[in-house]
Amino acid sequence: MMKYISTRGGKEELTGAQAIIQGIAPNKGLYVPKEVPELPFAPGEMTGKTYQEIAYKIIGTFFDDYSEEEMHHCIDGAYDAKFEEKEIVPVTKAGDAFFLELYHGKTAAFKDMALSILPYLLTTATKKEHEDKKICILTATSGDTGKAALEGFADVAGTEIIVFFPNQGVSQVQERQMVTQEGENTHVFAIEGNFDDAQTGVKKIFNDAAFRDKLAGMGCKLSSANSINIGRLVPQVAYYVYGYIKLIERGVIADGDKINIVVPTGNFGNILAAYYAKQMGIPVAKLICASNKNRVLTDFIETGVYDINRDFYLTNSPSMDILISSNLERLLFHLSGDDGAEIKDLMGKLESDKKYHVSDKIRAGMKNFCGGFADVEMTNKAIGDMYKDNGYLMDTHTAVAYKVYEDYRAKTGDETPTLIASTASAYKFAESVAKSIGLDDEPDGFRYIDAVSKETGVRVPRGLKDLDKKEIRHNGVIEIPQMEETVENSVK
Ligand SMILES: *Cc1c(COP(=O)(O)O)cnc(C)c1O
Repeated sequence: MMKYISTRGGKEELTGAQAIIQGIAPNKGLYVPKEVPELPFAPGEMTGKTYQEIAYKIIGTFFDDYSEEEMHHCIDGAYDAKFEEKEIVPVTKAGDAFFLELYHGKTAAFKDMALSILPYLLTTATKKEHEDKKICILTATSGDTGKAALEGFADVAGTEIIVFFPNQGVSQVQERQMVTQEGENTHVFAIEGNFDDAQTGVKKIFNDAAFRDKLAGMGCKLSSANSINIGRLVPQVAYYVYGYIKLIERGVIADGDKINIVVPTGNFGNILAAYYAKQMGIPVAKLICASNKNRVLTDFIETGVYDINRDFYLTNSPSMDILISSNLERLLFHLSGDDGAEIKDLMGKLESDKKYHVSDKIRAGMKNFCGGFADVEMTNKAIGDMYKDNGYLMDTHTAVAYKVYEDYRAKTGDETPTLIASTASAYKFAESVAKSIGLDDEPDGFRYIDAVSKETGVRVPRGLKDLDKKEIRHNGVIEIPQMEETVENSVK
């Protein structure tokens, strides 16, 4: 059976269900598969299969402690008509790449891919493990995770969900999506800080044993809907495998041919899932890590030095406005040869010195990764050019990825067929998109949705229609030191 271990060492080995409930390891590490499993099929055998069929096999291989019946329950509950495209993940050719459209779920961002299934995985896990406490989901968000987690967990019996987002740090649409969330068990707060502050605050709460005990006394067990939870990452592996199979199906590649994958990256979860797909056996040549002006990862890939002693920028791709990319820890652990002590040391340095330098061994393991970045101006130009030349609409995050990919192609001449993770609907960032395709200013941010729709004819996602007319249900703004008491008051 598959076992999950902590990136910071120790003998603890958990089943998938146990790791999902736990969220983060007691020694502050993240859970990773002890061994990445092999693909349970040859991709060429799977052409013509549905998203659900492929996801069932991939997720079921990682979480093999779930019975077939349990896994079917999870898959069927997650990937259904709440997705506005029957294929779940359409693959669209535009310009020089294939866009893996991951944003057709309820909240119009790729986070729905994992957060539609996480509540099923988690509630099934609590049954399997006879966990009788209420599960309290604690989430820091750079904009999209929060809403996707709220939608996933709203009114799910036996759970409470608390979301912290950076005040002023998310788009107007993202903010409105969260503060209008319905559901008796939902709690949403703006914090006076940026995403890294929110994420660090949440991690601190997880690592405060006394506070966890106090909550346990109140009948609550903390868990996470951030990509620090392995139950978030594994479902994301499925769509890269699916994308590869679709390229075979269309005759773009033959089974066994290599592809490149480009991922607009923030917390390093999505690109890590692509790495796992590669480790399972999907032939990936290059994993291209695209950043915005917060280019910590670009520099890291180039130099082997991870350095957060730098200015932090708010950009129009807010879900990538991150300096501390948590899931990088998982990659470093695998590349170090599972050396928990080494990772613990590196993460200690990040806390004390705000930087670390990885070993030659880790650097050598990163040879398939390349990095690049695009600032706001380049991003907007990419959106405009793509629309003008191909009539295809990209959101700001996807546009960062496309620009980085175009730069990579120009530099290397590499013509390998390429999948770009398309992470959000353009309507989530309607103001930037409208201006990039040459539309006029509007008096109110929400008007840009209609303006873009009128100009392009691209359907507005259900969840974004009439957002400005919905009742605001959450208006708390808190200081960072108030996070613990806010959690306590929310679960009472
Ligand atoms: C979360 C998010 C990202 C970054 O993904 P990570 O897994 O955090 O690297 C990119 N684009 C959008 C639209 C997102 O919501």
